[in-house]
Amino acid sequence: MVDIVSPGIYTYGSLVLGGILKEKGHVVNITRKLESRGNATLLSLFSTLQLLDPKIIKFVASREDVYVGGPVGMCPEMVLGELNAKAVVIGEGEEIVSDLVTRGPEDLPGVAYKQDGKVTKTPPRPVASLDHAVPLIPEDLSQQSVRGANIYIETHRGCLGNCSFCQVPRFFGRSIRSRSIENIVAEVQELKRRGVRRVAVSGGTGSLFGYRSSINRDAFIEMLRALSSILGKRNLSVPDMRVDLVDEEVLSAIRDYTIGWVFFGLETGSERILRAMRKGVSVKDNREAIQLAKSLGVRVGGSFIVGYPGETRQDFEETMAFAEEAMLDDVFVSIAEPIPGTPLAAQVLANPDDELALYQEHCGDAKALKLSEAETRCFELMLHAESCKPVPRAITNDLYNAFLAEAKCQGSDIRRVIGLLKKYREHV
Ligand code: SF4
Repeated sequence: MVDIVSPGIYTYGSLVLGGILKEKGHVVNITRKLESRGNATLLSLFSTLQLLDPKIIKFVASREDVYVGGPVGMCPEMVLGELNAKAVVIGEGEEIVSDLVTRGPEDLPGVAYKQDGKVTKTPPRPVASLDHAVPLIPEDLSQQSVRGANIYIETHRGCLGNCSFCQVPRFFGRSIRSRSIENIVAEVQELKRRGVRRVAVSGGTGSLFGYRSSINRDAFIEMLRALSSILGKRNLSVPDMRVDLVDEEVLSAIRDYTIGWVFFGLETGSERILRAMRKGVSVKDNREAIQLAKSLGVRVGGSFIVGYPGETRQDFEETMAFAEEAMLDDVFVSIAEPIPGTPLAAQVLANPDDELALYQEHCGDAKALKLSEAETRCFELMLHAESCKPVPRAITNDLYNAFLAEAKCQGSDIRRVIGLLKKYREHV
Protein backbone atom coordinates (compact mmCIF):
# COMPACT_ATOMS: atom_id res chain seq x y z
CA MET A 1 0.00 0.00 0.00
CA VAL A 2 1.12 3.56 -0.73
CA ASP A 3 0.18 6.40 1.61
CA ILE A 4 -0.13 9.90 0.20
CA VAL A 5 0.24 12.44 2.98
CA SER A 6 -0.80 16.00 2.17
CA PRO A 7 -0.50 17.85 5.49
CA GLY A 8 -3.33 20.23 6.32
CA ILE A 9 -5.02 20.36 2.91
CA TYR A 10 -5.51 17.94 0.06
CA THR A 11 -3.43 19.44 -2.72
CA TYR A 12 -4.58 18.82 -6.27
CA GLY A 13 -1.18 17.32 -7.13
CA SER A 14 -1.56 14.71 -4.39
CA LEU A 15 -4.98 13.67 -5.73
CA VAL A 16 -3.58 13.37 -9.25
CA LEU A 17 -0.66 11.20 -8.14
CA GLY A 18 -3.13 9.07 -6.16
CA GLY A 19 -5.24 8.53 -9.29
CA ILE A 20 -2.19 7.59 -11.36
CA LEU A 21 -0.96 5.10 -8.75
CA LYS A 22 -4.40 3.55 -8.45
CA GLU A 23 -4.65 3.17 -12.23
CA LYS A 24 -1.30 1.35 -12.18
CA GLY A 25 -2.61 -1.16 -9.67
CA HIS A 26 -1.37 0.21 -6.34
CA VAL A 27 -3.55 0.29 -3.26
CA VAL A 28 -3.52 3.94 -2.23
CA ASN A 29 -4.57 5.75 0.92
CA ILE A 30 -4.67 9.57 1.01
CA THR A 31 -4.73 11.64 4.18
CA ARG A 32 -4.24 15.18 5.50
CA LYS A 33 -2.86 13.77 8.75
CA LEU A 34 0.76 12.96 9.43
CA GLU A 35 0.26 9.22 9.52
CA SER A 36 1.07 6.31 7.24
CA ARG A 37 0.82 2.54 7.37
CA GLY A 38 1.91 1.39 3.93
CA ASN A 39 5.19 0.33 2.34
CA ALA A 40 5.89 3.75 0.88
CA THR A 41 4.83 7.30 1.70
CA LEU A 42 4.50 10.22 -0.69
CA LEU A 43 4.63 13.51 1.19
CA SER A 44 3.23 16.51 -0.68
CA LEU A 45 4.76 19.81 0.46
CA PHE A 46 3.93 23.17 -1.08
CA SER A 47 5.67 25.65 1.22
CA THR A 48 9.26 26.19 2.35
CA LEU A 49 7.93 26.75 5.87
CA GLN A 50 6.72 23.15 6.02
CA LEU A 51 10.37 22.09 6.04
CA LEU A 52 10.68 23.83 9.42
CA ASP A 53 7.54 22.32 10.93
CA PRO A 54 8.62 20.14 13.89
CA LYS A 55 5.66 17.76 13.38
CA ILE A 56 6.61 17.15 9.75
CA ILE A 57 10.30 16.73 10.66
CA LYS A 58 9.35 14.17 13.33
CA PHE A 59 6.98 12.31 11.02
CA VAL A 60 9.60 11.94 8.27
CA ALA A 61 12.26 10.94 10.82
CA SER A 62 10.00 8.16 12.09
CA ARG A 63 9.90 6.40 8.70
CA GLU A 64 12.42 5.19 6.18
CA ASP A 65 10.26 5.28 3.09
CA VAL A 66 9.22 8.90 2.61
CA TYR A 67 9.38 10.48 -0.86
CA VAL A 68 8.80 14.22 -0.94
CA GLY A 69 7.16 16.01 -3.88
CA GLY A 70 5.54 19.35 -4.65
CA PRO A 71 6.90 22.88 -5.12
CA VAL A 72 9.58 22.38 -2.42
CA GLY A 73 11.29 20.07 -4.95
CA MET A 74 12.74 23.25 -6.53
CA CYS A 75 15.55 23.00 -3.98
CA PRO A 76 16.08 19.29 -3.23
CA GLU A 77 19.28 19.98 -1.23
CA MET A 78 17.20 21.98 1.22
CA VAL A 79 14.57 19.23 1.51
CA LEU A 80 17.15 16.48 2.01
CA GLY A 81 19.06 18.69 4.44
CA GLU A 82 16.04 19.36 6.64
CA LEU A 83 14.08 16.11 6.35
CA ASN A 84 15.17 12.51 6.57
CA ALA A 85 13.48 11.73 3.23
CA LYS A 86 14.46 8.81 1.01
CA ALA A 87 14.22 10.95 -2.13
CA VAL A 88 12.76 14.17 -3.49
CA VAL A 89 10.88 14.54 -6.77
CA ILE A 90 12.27 17.46 -8.77
CA GLY A 91 9.53 18.97 -10.94
CA GLU A 92 6.70 16.91 -12.39
CA GLY A 93 6.29 13.47 -10.85
CA GLU A 94 3.46 11.82 -12.77
CA GLU A 95 5.60 9.63 -15.01
CA ILE A 96 7.94 8.34 -12.34
CA VAL A 97 5.78 8.03 -9.26
CA SER A 98 4.84 4.38 -9.73
CA ASP A 99 8.46 3.28 -10.33
CA LEU A 100 9.63 5.47 -7.47
CA VAL A 101 7.44 3.82 -4.84
CA THR A 102 8.08 0.34 -6.27
CA ARG A 103 11.84 0.28 -6.73
CA GLY A 104 13.29 3.48 -5.28
CA PRO A 105 14.89 6.55 -6.90
CA GLU A 106 17.99 5.07 -8.55
CA ASP A 107 18.05 5.49 -12.36
CA LEU A 108 14.87 7.58 -12.49
CA PRO A 109 14.76 11.04 -14.08
CA GLY A 110 13.81 14.06 -11.98
CA VAL A 111 14.78 12.81 -8.52
CA ALA A 112 17.32 13.67 -5.84
CA TYR A 113 18.53 11.41 -3.07
CA LYS A 114 21.48 11.04 -0.76
CA GLN A 115 24.27 8.66 -1.67
CA ASP A 116 27.29 8.38 0.62
CA GLY A 117 26.19 11.56 2.36
CA LYS A 118 26.09 13.58 -0.91
CA VAL A 119 23.02 14.66 -2.86
CA THR A 120 22.68 12.95 -6.25
CA LYS A 121 20.31 14.62 -8.71
CA THR A 122 18.97 13.51 -12.08
CA PRO A 123 17.54 16.04 -14.57
CA PRO A 124 13.74 16.37 -14.56
CA ARG A 125 11.69 15.36 -17.56
CA PRO A 126 8.40 17.22 -18.15
CA VAL A 127 5.41 14.92 -18.63
CA ALA A 128 4.50 14.24 -22.26
CA SER A 129 0.76 14.82 -21.79
CA LEU A 130 -1.09 16.52 -18.95
CA ASP A 131 -4.14 14.31 -19.47
CA HIS A 132 -4.24 11.86 -16.61
CA ALA A 133 -6.37 9.28 -14.84
CA VAL A 134 -9.25 10.55 -12.74
CA PRO A 135 -7.72 11.78 -9.44
CA LEU A 136 -8.12 9.89 -6.20
CA ILE A 137 -10.95 11.75 -4.47
CA PRO A 138 -11.04 11.46 -0.67
CA GLU A 139 -14.42 11.12 1.08
CA ASP A 140 -14.08 14.43 2.89
CA LEU A 141 -12.87 16.60 -0.01
CA SER A 142 -16.27 18.30 -0.14
CA GLN A 143 -15.65 19.64 3.39
CA GLN A 144 -12.38 21.30 2.46
CA SER A 145 -12.33 25.04 1.75
CA VAL A 146 -9.39 26.70 0.05
CA ARG A 147 -10.29 30.36 -0.55
CA GLY A 148 -13.91 29.21 -0.81
CA ALA A 149 -13.36 26.25 -3.18
CA ASN A 150 -13.25 22.57 -2.25
CA ILE A 151 -10.38 22.10 -4.65
CA TYR A 152 -8.33 24.05 -7.20
CA ILE A 153 -7.90 22.02 -10.37
CA GLU A 154 -5.25 22.44 -13.02
CA THR A 155 -6.15 23.04 -16.67
CA HIS A 156 -2.68 23.90 -17.98
CA ARG A 157 0.92 24.36 -16.87
CA GLY A 158 3.45 27.10 -17.48
CA CYS A 159 3.24 30.86 -17.67
CA LEU A 160 4.36 33.36 -20.29
CA GLY A 161 5.24 35.74 -17.46
CA ASN A 162 8.59 36.03 -15.77
CA CYS A 163 7.71 37.65 -12.44
CA SER A 164 10.79 37.63 -10.24
CA PHE A 165 8.98 36.35 -7.14
CA CYS A 166 7.05 33.51 -8.79
CA GLN A 167 7.91 29.86 -8.98
CA VAL A 168 5.46 28.91 -11.77
CA PRO A 169 7.67 29.64 -14.82
CA ARG A 170 10.69 28.11 -13.07
CA PHE A 171 8.83 24.94 -12.06
CA PHE A 172 6.67 24.40 -15.16
CA GLY A 173 8.44 26.49 -17.79
CA ARG A 174 7.38 29.47 -19.89
CA SER A 175 5.59 27.58 -22.64
CA ILE A 176 1.99 26.55 -22.10
CA ARG A 177 0.83 22.93 -22.03
CA SER A 178 -2.90 22.36 -21.68
CA ARG A 179 -5.07 19.40 -20.81
CA SER A 180 -7.83 18.36 -23.20
CA ILE A 181 -11.30 19.65 -22.36
CA GLU A 182 -12.56 16.03 -22.33
CA ASN A 183 -10.03 15.10 -19.63
CA ILE A 184 -10.96 18.13 -17.49
CA VAL A 185 -14.70 17.50 -17.93
CA ALA A 186 -14.36 13.83 -16.90
CA GLU A 187 -12.51 14.93 -13.77
CA VAL A 188 -15.07 17.56 -12.81
CA GLN A 189 -17.96 15.14 -13.40
CA GLU A 190 -16.31 12.66 -11.05
CA LEU A 191 -15.62 15.38 -8.46
CA LYS A 192 -19.29 16.33 -8.55
CA ARG A 193 -20.38 12.69 -8.31
CA ARG A 194 -18.24 12.40 -5.16
CA GLY A 195 -19.96 15.36 -3.52
CA VAL A 196 -17.58 18.20 -4.41
CA ARG A 197 -19.54 21.38 -5.05
CA ARG A 198 -17.13 24.27 -5.52
CA VAL A 199 -14.21 24.08 -7.92
CA ALA A 200 -11.68 26.74 -8.80
CA VAL A 201 -9.31 26.69 -11.74
CA SER A 202 -5.69 27.39 -10.92
CA GLY A 203 -2.68 27.70 -13.18
CA GLY A 204 -1.27 31.20 -12.73
CA THR A 205 -3.42 32.78 -15.40
CA GLY A 206 -6.65 31.03 -16.31
CA SER A 207 -6.97 32.56 -19.76
CA LEU A 208 -3.74 30.86 -20.92
CA PHE A 209 -5.68 27.60 -21.21
CA GLY A 210 -5.36 26.33 -24.79
CA TYR A 211 -2.70 28.95 -25.63
CA ARG A 212 -0.59 28.17 -28.67
CA SER A 213 0.90 31.27 -30.26
CA SER A 214 -1.78 33.58 -28.93
CA ILE A 215 -4.64 33.48 -26.44
CA ASN A 216 -7.17 30.87 -27.48
CA ARG A 217 -10.38 32.53 -26.37
CA ASP A 218 -12.55 29.85 -27.96
CA ALA A 219 -10.85 27.06 -25.98
CA PHE A 220 -11.01 29.06 -22.75
CA ILE A 221 -14.68 29.93 -23.21
CA GLU A 222 -15.60 26.38 -24.27
CA MET A 223 -13.89 25.04 -21.15
CA LEU A 224 -15.73 27.49 -18.88
CA ARG A 225 -19.05 26.74 -20.54
CA ALA A 226 -18.53 22.98 -20.13
CA LEU A 227 -17.53 23.19 -16.45
CA SER A 228 -20.27 25.68 -15.66
CA SER A 229 -22.91 23.36 -17.14
CA ILE A 230 -21.72 20.61 -14.74
CA LEU A 231 -21.24 22.65 -11.56
CA GLY A 232 -23.44 25.71 -12.06
CA LYS A 233 -21.85 29.16 -12.37
CA ARG A 234 -22.07 29.82 -8.63
CA ASN A 235 -19.73 26.91 -7.98
CA LEU A 236 -17.01 27.67 -10.52
CA SER A 237 -14.30 30.29 -10.26
CA VAL A 238 -11.27 31.17 -12.39
CA PRO A 239 -9.75 33.79 -10.17
CA ASP A 240 -6.13 34.29 -11.15
CA MET A 241 -5.52 36.44 -14.20
CA ARG A 242 -2.76 38.57 -15.66
CA VAL A 243 -4.06 42.01 -16.57
CA ASP A 244 -2.52 41.81 -20.06
CA LEU A 245 -4.23 38.49 -20.78
CA VAL A 246 -7.83 39.58 -20.39
CA ASP A 247 -10.10 41.40 -22.79
CA GLU A 248 -13.82 41.98 -23.23
CA GLU A 249 -14.50 38.44 -24.45
CA VAL A 250 -12.51 36.73 -21.70
CA LEU A 251 -14.03 38.87 -18.96
CA SER A 252 -17.55 38.46 -20.33
CA ALA A 253 -17.09 34.68 -20.20
CA ILE A 254 -15.93 34.96 -16.59
CA ARG A 255 -19.05 36.97 -15.80
CA ASP A 256 -21.39 34.57 -17.64
CA TYR A 257 -19.99 31.16 -16.63
CA THR A 258 -18.36 31.62 -13.21
CA ILE A 259 -19.05 33.39 -9.91
CA GLY A 260 -17.98 36.51 -11.77
CA TRP A 261 -14.77 37.45 -9.98
CA VAL A 262 -11.21 38.00 -11.15
CA PHE A 263 -8.17 38.33 -8.97
CA PHE A 264 -5.39 40.36 -10.57
CA GLY A 265 -1.79 40.22 -9.38
CA LEU A 266 -1.38 44.01 -9.21
CA GLU A 267 1.62 43.86 -6.86
CA THR A 268 2.39 47.59 -6.47
CA GLY A 269 1.40 51.08 -7.54
CA SER A 270 5.01 51.95 -8.29
CA GLU A 271 6.16 51.77 -11.90
CA ARG A 272 9.74 51.40 -10.69
CA ILE A 273 8.99 48.38 -8.49
CA LEU A 274 6.79 46.75 -11.16
CA ARG A 275 9.82 46.87 -13.46
CA ALA A 276 12.07 45.47 -10.72
CA MET A 277 9.59 42.61 -10.31
CA ARG A 278 9.79 41.92 -14.09
CA LYS A 279 6.04 41.98 -14.10
CA GLY A 280 5.88 42.95 -17.77
CA VAL A 281 2.93 45.32 -17.31
CA SER A 282 2.58 48.95 -16.25
CA VAL A 283 0.47 50.68 -13.62
CA LYS A 284 -1.63 51.96 -16.52
CA ASP A 285 -2.24 48.36 -17.71
CA ASN A 286 -3.38 47.44 -14.21
CA ARG A 287 -5.69 50.44 -14.05
CA GLU A 288 -7.25 49.76 -17.46
CA ALA A 289 -7.86 46.05 -16.77
CA ILE A 290 -9.62 46.91 -13.50
CA GLN A 291 -11.79 49.48 -15.25
CA LEU A 292 -12.64 47.09 -18.08
CA ALA A 293 -13.61 44.29 -15.69
CA LYS A 294 -15.78 46.59 -13.60
CA SER A 295 -17.46 48.03 -16.71
CA LEU A 296 -18.47 44.49 -17.70
CA GLY A 297 -19.92 43.67 -14.29
CA VAL A 298 -17.01 41.52 -13.11
CA ARG A 299 -15.96 41.97 -9.49
CA VAL A 300 -12.27 42.61 -9.01
CA GLY A 301 -9.91 41.51 -6.29
CA GLY A 302 -6.22 42.24 -6.32
CA SER A 303 -3.05 41.19 -4.61
CA PHE A 304 -0.20 43.46 -3.57
CA ILE A 305 3.36 42.75 -2.50
CA VAL A 306 5.09 45.07 -0.04
CA GLY A 307 8.64 45.20 1.27
CA TYR A 308 10.13 44.23 -2.09
CA PRO A 309 13.92 44.84 -2.11
CA GLY A 310 14.49 48.49 -2.99
CA GLU A 311 10.89 49.59 -2.26
CA THR A 312 11.03 53.06 -0.73
CA ARG A 313 8.42 54.82 1.38
CA GLN A 314 7.56 56.84 -1.76
CA ASP A 315 6.96 53.61 -3.76
CA PHE A 316 4.74 52.37 -0.95
CA GLU A 317 2.76 55.65 -0.90
CA GLU A 318 2.12 55.13 -4.62
CA THR A 319 0.74 51.66 -3.83
CA MET A 320 -1.54 53.14 -1.15
CA ALA A 321 -2.77 55.74 -3.66
CA PHE A 322 -3.35 53.04 -6.30
CA ALA A 323 -5.36 50.89 -3.85
CA GLU A 324 -7.50 53.94 -3.02
CA GLU A 325 -8.18 54.70 -6.65
CA ALA A 326 -8.82 51.05 -7.61
CA MET A 327 -11.54 50.46 -4.97
CA LEU A 328 -11.13 46.70 -5.13
CA ASP A 329 -13.79 44.32 -3.85
CA ASP A 330 -11.17 42.20 -2.15
CA VAL A 331 -7.48 42.66 -1.43
CA PHE A 332 -4.69 40.35 -0.42
CA VAL A 333 -1.46 41.88 0.85
CA SER A 334 1.74 39.91 1.27
CA ILE A 335 5.27 40.74 2.24
CA ALA A 336 7.71 39.79 -0.54
CA GLU A 337 8.58 36.14 0.06
CA PRO A 338 11.76 34.81 -1.52
CA ILE A 339 10.73 31.37 -2.77
CA PRO A 340 13.74 29.13 -3.52
CA GLY A 341 14.61 29.02 -7.20
CA THR A 342 13.26 32.50 -7.98
CA PRO A 343 15.28 35.61 -8.91
CA LEU A 344 13.84 37.27 -5.80
CA ALA A 345 15.51 34.63 -3.60
CA ALA A 346 18.87 35.39 -5.23
CA GLN A 347 18.27 39.12 -4.80
CA VAL A 348 17.38 38.79 -1.12
CA LEU A 349 20.52 36.74 -0.50
CA ALA A 350 22.61 39.37 -2.28
CA ASN A 351 21.29 42.17 -0.05
CA PRO A 352 22.62 42.78 3.46
CA ASP A 353 19.79 42.27 6.00
CA ASP A 354 19.74 45.92 7.02
CA GLU A 355 18.81 46.89 3.45
CA LEU A 356 15.65 44.73 3.58
CA ALA A 357 12.48 46.28 5.01
CA LEU A 358 11.83 43.04 6.91
CA TYR A 359 14.80 43.74 9.16
CA GLN A 360 14.37 47.52 9.45
CA GLU A 361 12.61 48.93 12.47
CA HIS A 362 9.67 51.15 11.52
CA CYS A 363 10.35 54.66 12.79
CA GLY A 364 7.23 56.48 11.54
CA ASP A 365 3.76 57.11 12.98
CA ALA A 366 3.18 53.41 13.74
CA LYS A 367 6.42 53.05 15.75
CA ALA A 368 4.49 52.01 18.88
CA LEU A 369 3.31 48.81 17.17
CA LYS A 370 6.92 47.54 17.22
CA LEU A 371 6.75 46.11 13.72
CA SER A 372 9.43 45.98 11.08
CA GLU A 373 9.07 48.40 8.17
CA ALA A 374 7.78 45.59 5.90
CA GLU A 375 5.22 44.44 8.48
CA THR A 376 4.07 48.04 8.99
CA ARG A 377 3.52 48.50 5.26
CA CYS A 378 1.61 45.21 5.10
CA PHE A 379 -0.61 46.25 8.01
CA GLU A 380 -1.17 49.79 6.73
CA LEU A 381 -2.12 48.60 3.25
CA MET A 382 -4.54 45.98 4.59
CA LEU A 383 -6.30 48.65 6.69
CA HIS A 384 -6.29 51.21 3.90
CA ALA A 385 -7.51 48.85 1.15
CA GLU A 386 -10.30 47.66 3.45
CA SER A 387 -11.51 51.21 3.95
CA CYS A 388 -11.35 51.83 0.18
CA LYS A 389 -13.59 48.89 -0.78
CA PRO A 390 -16.88 49.79 -2.49
CA VAL A 391 -18.58 48.27 0.57
CA PRO A 392 -16.01 48.53 3.38
CA ARG A 393 -16.30 46.58 6.59
CA ALA A 394 -16.18 48.55 9.83
CA ILE A 395 -12.66 48.42 11.25
CA THR A 396 -13.57 46.83 14.57
CA ASN A 397 -10.98 45.98 17.22
CA ASP A 398 -11.16 42.35 16.10
CA LEU A 399 -10.50 43.21 12.44
CA TYR A 400 -7.70 45.62 13.39
CA ASN A 401 -6.06 42.94 15.55
CA ALA A 402 -6.50 40.31 12.86
CA PHE A 403 -4.66 42.52 10.32
CA LEU A 404 -1.95 43.25 12.87
CA ALA A 405 -1.48 39.57 13.68
CA GLU A 406 -1.41 38.67 9.98
CA ALA A 407 1.32 41.26 9.24
CA LYS A 408 3.41 40.08 12.21
CA CYS A 409 2.99 36.42 11.30
CA GLN A 410 4.02 37.03 7.68
CA GLY A 411 7.10 38.95 8.79
CA SER A 412 8.19 36.26 11.22
CA ASP A 413 7.53 33.41 8.72
CA ILE A 414 9.49 35.10 5.94
CA ARG A 415 12.46 35.81 8.20
CA ARG A 416 12.49 32.07 8.97
CA VAL A 417 12.41 31.30 5.23
CA ILE A 418 15.32 33.71 4.67
CA GLY A 419 17.24 31.93 7.44
CA LEU A 420 16.79 28.67 5.54
CA LEU A 421 17.82 30.28 2.23
CA LYS A 422 21.05 31.47 3.84
CA LYS A 423 21.79 27.96 5.08
CA TYR A 424 21.49 26.58 1.50
CA ARG A 425 22.63 29.71 -0.31
CA GLU A 426 24.73 27.88 -2.90
CA HIS A 427 21.72 25.82 -3.99
CA VAL A 428 18.96 28.43 -4.22
S1 SF4 B 1 1.86 36.11 -14.28
FE1 SF4 B 1 1.36 35.04 -12.37
S2 SF4 B 1 1.87 32.89 -12.73
FE2 SF4 B 1 2.86 34.08 -14.34
S3 SF4 B 1 4.95 34.48 -13.61
FE3 SF4 B 1 3.69 36.23 -13.00
S4 SF4 B 1 2.90 35.76 -10.94
FE4 SF4 B 1 3.68 33.84 -11.85
